[in-house]
Amino acid sequence: MTHFKRISIFVLALICALPAFSQLYASKPRFKALVYYSDTAESAHVEFAEQAIDYFRHLSWGEGFILDQTTSLAGYTYDKLKEYTMIIAINASPGAGGERALFEKYMENGGGWLGFHAAAYNDANTGWPWYVKFLGGGVFYCNNWPPQPALLDVDTDASPVTRSLPSQFVAAESEWYQWKPSPRQNPDVEVLVSLSSRNYPFGIKDIVTGGDFPVVWRNKNYRMVYLNFGHGDREFLDPTQNLLVVNAFRYVASLDPSGDPFQ
Ligand code: ZN
Repeated sequence: MTHFKRISIFVLALICALPAFSQLYASKPRFKALVYYSDTAESAHVEFAEQAIDYFRHLSWGEGFILDQTTSLAGYTYDKLKEYTMIIAINASPGAGGERALFEKYMENGGGWLGFHAAAYNDANTGWPWYVKFLGGGVFYCNNWPPQPALLDVDTDASPVTRSLPSQFVAAESEWYQWKPSPRQNPDVEVLVSLSSRNYPFGIKDIVTGGDFPVVWRNKNYRMVYLNFGHGDREFLDPTQNLLVVNAFRYVASLDPSGDPFQ
């Protein structure tokens, strides 16, 4: 056998040992995601929504997934909504009437939700106990002001959402919400990232002086992850925070009851 032939056989064997590209490259979109946002909220929440939509559009390059967007769930039937592997709720939550019932049905039957910032806002006037339960039981308690960066603690490296993150990082500037009771007290909640107590006193005009401050968590009874940041137009400046967004998005999609779209 010539030297050339031996090299050719070696290269051929090497190629055969590699996974087929067809297993790695999607030939069609893997799933559909629906951005649900508000264009009538306070301007800083709309600015975040616009930037987040742009960020998720970039993630959909190559049509890895289909990204649709809406400012209202009113025009959706359950059958239409369940075509989406997840709703990306950006500073928006279902309004009165049919939207709430539709969202409950969607989530109670395996729907996915990736929520940002004011999507989880609720207080004494919200009047939707199911939503409070869905979010882990916390009601808005206080926030820092003005928006600022924050040192975050990663609570666990055992979750696909956090395992590629450092144990601490400084997140981009945001308005941060604290909740009472803390969702951490709920045994159904897994807290993934928290505001470090080393930030206290936290704020310039409105100052948070202490307390438990989860910022990313999931309710294990639902296919959901909540991320508390989402205020203003300077949120997508930190690559670690951006990686957290990608991880959380991918995690929610991966748990689709019809199968992991990335497999
Ligand atoms: Zn805000």
